[in-house]
Amino acid sequence: MTNDSLLQVRDLKKYFEIKRGFFWGEPAKVHAVDGVSFDLLRGETLGLVGESGCGKSTTGRLILRLIEATAGDVLFEGTSIFKAGKSEMRALRQRMQIIFQDPYSSLNPRMTVEQIVGEGIVIHKLCKTRHERRERVADLLQKVGISPEQMHRYPHEFSGGQRQRVGIARALAVNPKLIIADEPISALDVSIQAQVINLLEDLQDQFNLTYLFIAHDLRVVEHISDRVAVMYLGKIVELADSQELYAKPMHPYTEALLSAIPIPDPTTKRRRIILEGDPPSPINPPKGCRFHTRCHKRFDRCDKEEPALREVDPRHWVSCHLY
Ligand code: SF4
Repeated sequence: MTNDSLLQVRDLKKYFEIKRGFFWGEPAKVHAVDGVSFDLLRGETLGLVGESGCGKSTTGRLILRLIEATAGDVLFEGTSIFKAGKSEMRALRQRMQIIFQDPYSSLNPRMTVEQIVGEGIVIHKLCKTRHERRERVADLLQKVGISPEQMHRYPHEFSGGQRQRVGIARALAVNPKLIIADEPISALDVSIQAQVINLLEDLQDQFNLTYLFIAHDLRVVEHISDRVAVMYLGKIVELADSQELYAKPMHPYTEALLSAIPIPDPTTKRRRIILEGDPPSPINPPKGCRFHTRCHKRFDRCDKEEPALREVDPRHWVSCHLY
């Protein structure tokens, strides 16, 4: 732990039970998140990246206690979220907000934008009068680039990018310190994506926000992240400062993900590493290194022994027997 840690995630696990039919006996367990640990430092953006189903969104939801963890702990400013009672949890919820992937389904279609953005202000009693609340909603809308005159409209009257801006205003309304952005741009047109990223960066400076930015593509998090954590099959396999990770990836999975990103400079060549097949089932993760069934560098030890996540260079953590 450092004094700068806003959030500490410790050995977080989530196993979902699935029924297998009458004659199968014990229900199977999906190891969605299987021992994830990291710190989030105040004011930083940590990108959390991996293929779909790797457990990154579940990790975000566990941190906010939108779903209950199987094991582990999450400390927000030193307070255990999992041990918090109802009133403590309510106070913590104000400090931690989420922006969802799909701006189409995450906004209540029967509420006006004023009601959507103002809901948290009402719940947490942040304004004394209706007039004060309306002023605050107007100010928030302006900050995210939506005209306050549009606050009486409904979500379906806005484009995808505008709806995501409304989602951002809703998150900001309760003065959070941490925002978990769960694939906030993947449902948007490419032309809009950069605008939303720029907006999030501006707001981070203005409000001194800390972001956990979840994405399935390393390209998306490159510019916004101070550090990046790569997840595979429920575990973090590499975590490093952003520049270091992109310049010197160590884990073969990170190498493969990066090799798929086109380089703008045509004179620079990068060997494409093709990832074979899909990730194995999280119901029965492979023994040893979970990545060994797809790894282009695997050797004897890899399918027998699970590598630990170790700091192999200063601030550069990798779980691979090669280091
Ligand atoms: Fe590949 Fe072995 Fe490293 Fe796993 S431990 S990433 S299989 S080289």
